[in-house]
Amino acid sequence: MKKVKVGILGATGMVGQRFVDLLQNHPWFEITELAASEKSANKSYEETMKGRWMASAQIPQKAKDVKVKECRPDLDCKIVFSALDSLVAGPIEENFARNGYIVSSNSKNHRMDIDVPLLIPEVNPEHLAIVKKQQKRFKGFIVTNPNCSAIGLAVALKPLQDAFGLERVFITTMQALSGAGYPGVASLDILDNVVPYISGEEEKIETETLKLLGKISNGKISFADFKISAQCNRVSVKDGHLESVNIGLAKKADLEQIKSTFRSFNPLKKMGLPSAPNPPIILREEIDRPQPKYDRDAGNGMAVTVGRLRKCNVIDYKFLVLSHNTIRGAAGAAILNAELMKVKGLMG
Ligand code: NAP
Repeated sequence: MKKVKVGILGATGMVGQRFVDLLQNHPWFEITELAASEKSANKSYEETMKGRWMASAQIPQKAKDVKVKECRPDLDCKIVFSALDSLVAGPIEENFARNGYIVSSNSKNHRMDIDVPLLIPEVNPEHLAIVKKQQKRFKGFIVTNPNCSAIGLAVALKPLQDAFGLERVFITTMQALSGAGYPGVASLDILDNVVPYISGEEEKIETETLKLLGKISNGKISFADFKISAQCNRVSVKDGHLESVNIGLAKKADLEQIKSTFRSFNPLKKMGLPSAPNPPIILREEIDRPQPKYDRDAGNGMAVTVGRLRKCNVIDYKFLVLSHNTIRGAAGAAILNAELMKVKGLMG
């Protein structure tokens, strides 16, 4: 099979590096272009990344000599993965879509646009249909993946919503430092500390989760109607967002039914998407799991680990959810979205 040419916008950042690392041996996609800001451009990727590469032991050989360009829509590729700073992502992504590129974005800028899918292949693949509406404004189109905390939550809630219905969700996050980009939070602010505020994060979880779990009919998405309340904290962990979740269900369910609902959830099993974790949810029974250090890389960083599932004295059940924020919550999510687009025939 001829590989699809892909570019990475924001290739020098935390998430951009993850794209480079995850795509180096991809069976369907081949990196042909790397782009970033003016200050990183016009040098080889190896040169511009001196002292900045953190995604793995070393920069993939194939990427080292690629000349970094600016983010202009004259790149030799069909799809661009966007890991751009949200301060600049909005108009740059639109410019690529207007010029016929498929944009698979991590940034928040277009997630809530009425004609842009906010996509998780295991959760709402049918939402991809709304890209047709973008043909009124673009030759190409934009697809987004959710915020790095909303993604783990939505994957864990989806099987419960389908089986029992959801009425209320409370979530408290303990979010990793890599979620703040590089250099991120100053060491003296986070060592020996927890910071109980992450700008915009609670609002993103409370709105994006309802779009993700909403229904599509006649090309329009109606948001899920359960109530959700989020509290977000930054903790001194490198990668992996841990979330403490309490849920109220519409239909009664016993503990064994909830467990088997998590275990049997595997909607992509037969689709052959290279980055799809199998299974997408790992249910741990130990009293003290999941933990970021041990569980964030489950399923190559794409699985969502659920643990400490038990009855709640106030609403029905409580549990913990862990997902890798720069893989499942960012680069891996956008790659999986692109794989779904390919099998759905959207890449021509
Ligand atoms: P980051 O490390 O700060 O990287 C930002 C990237 O944007 C860099 O490649 C930077 O290039 C580029 N950039 C900045 N200004 C630019 C401009 N004017 N023109 C072109 N490129 C420009 O940020 P990050 O953590 O990787 O996050 C990237 C995006 O993903 C953000 O929108 C973020 O909200 C989202 N996201 C992050 C995570 C996470 O866990 N980190 C998870 C989900 C989503 P230079 O190096 O040349 O400045």
